[in-house]
Amino acid sequence: MNRAQNAPSLPKLSPNLGLKSRNTFGFEVCAEQAYEITDAAQIPELMQAIAAQNLPWRVLGGGSNVVLPSTLPGATLLMNITAQEIVSADEKETRIAVGAGVNWHEFVIWSLQHDLPGLENLALIPGTVGAAPIQNIGAYGVEIAQYVNSIEAFDTQSQTFVTLANADCQFAYRDSYFKHHPNRFIVTKVIFSIPKAWQARTHYADLAKHFSTGPSAQAIFDAVCAIRSQKLPNPKVIGNAGSFFQNPIVPNEQYETLLSKHPGLVSYPDAPGTRKLAAGWLIDQCGFKGQRMGEVGVYENQALVLVNHGGGTAQDILGLAKCIQDKVRNDFGVSLQIEPNVY
Ligand code: FAD
Ligand code: NAP
Repeated sequence: MNRAQNAPSLPKLSPNLGLKSRNTFGFEVCAEQAYEITDAAQIPELMQAIAAQNLPWRVLGGGSNVVLPSTLPGATLLMNITAQEIVSADEKETRIAVGAGVNWHEFVIWSLQHDLPGLENLALIPGTVGAAPIQNIGAYGVEIAQYVNSIEAFDTQSQTFVTLANADCQFAYRDSYFKHHPNRFIVTKVIFSIPKAWQARTHYADLAKHFSTGPSAQAIFDAVCAIRSQKLPNPKVIGNAGSFFQNPIVPNEQYETLLSKHPGLVSYPDAPGTRKLAAGWLIDQCGFKGQRMGEVGVYENQALVLVNHGGGTAQDILGLAKCIQDKVRNDFGVSLQIEPNVY
């Protein structure tokens, strides 16, 4: 292969790499060919080679929003681009370019240490910066979409690097353009815009009860970390991918009918004419909370989280998910959509 003198080296190939520690369900997974990407410049030649062999491929960040089979055929790109810099700062906003492989929670900590509040509600979400826009991560009423200026990515369709402006990403509730075009873009860098103006957002009940007066961003960060550590299973201890289903958003008429039959129904206002139902409540009502099916189960403190007690597989989790979907549809007439990306 002829390579220009200053071209970056191709990423190292690791054949048959075990990914048990790189997916938070802790499934036994073997990637036929794994490549660690440390520099965006490695991508074009690698993707050319992958395309030439017609290999299936995918990108993996922290593996905290995926359901992986026991064998991942073809090429798996392990994202590890970690460069980070402040690109501009004025009286209105600070822009920061962050490599796709940077750990999300570490970036939130860094932003607060640099007096750039805004991301504190999104503390302790596992995974990488590059994956965060894929499902437009959100928690406690804040979404990453509010802070993304633009995204740099390799477009495998045009085989070029592209910059997508915030509007191009079509961010929505746990959704984005990327999610609808899987295996097209490899996100290499996210450019964040953090406005100087800051406002505390503590309207979620779990968070609100921590404060009597206006909290600082650091205090919110601390509270979010405390609540999440108590409520959610730590993937290092018990395998999970966070919420396994999205909260369904239904038309108001359907909500009214459901409410008349189930007065305890937990829901929140959403876009005009619609209502967001708490999927965890629906699953709990069906009696699944804390239940076990073989090696997998429903977490005892939060019915929205499916867990691997050890030795479970993607098939086991998807089997449990189907039981839950069927029962919720039968009892409430509501379809639950799986949130993690299933391979
Ligand atoms: P991965 O799981 O590795 O990948 C997810 C998807 O993104 C895959 O399809 C992958 O191909 C794609 N992808 C990853 N990196 C790139 C890239 N560089 N370019 C292109 N595509 C890419 N999510 C929330 O929204 N809010 C929460 O509060 C939240 N809490 C969680 C709590 C727990 C305990 C767990 C386990 C998960 C939680 N999640 C939450 C889900 C998950 O953490 C996020 O979706 C996170 O952004 C996934 O990052 P990751 O690097 O692990 O992505
Ligand atoms: P929670 O506070 O017990 O609330 C249950 C559900 O009700 C949440 O999913 C949330 O929707 C919704 N909700 C609560 N208060 C609301 C309000 N004031 N306005 C609108 N919606 C409201 O939820 P939790 O399980 O402890 O999680 C706390 C936050 O972390 C939530 O935002 C949740 O999405 C996020 N989280 C996400 C994941 C994931 O994997 N996606 C995992 C864990 C936690 P929303 O989900 O729309 O916020």
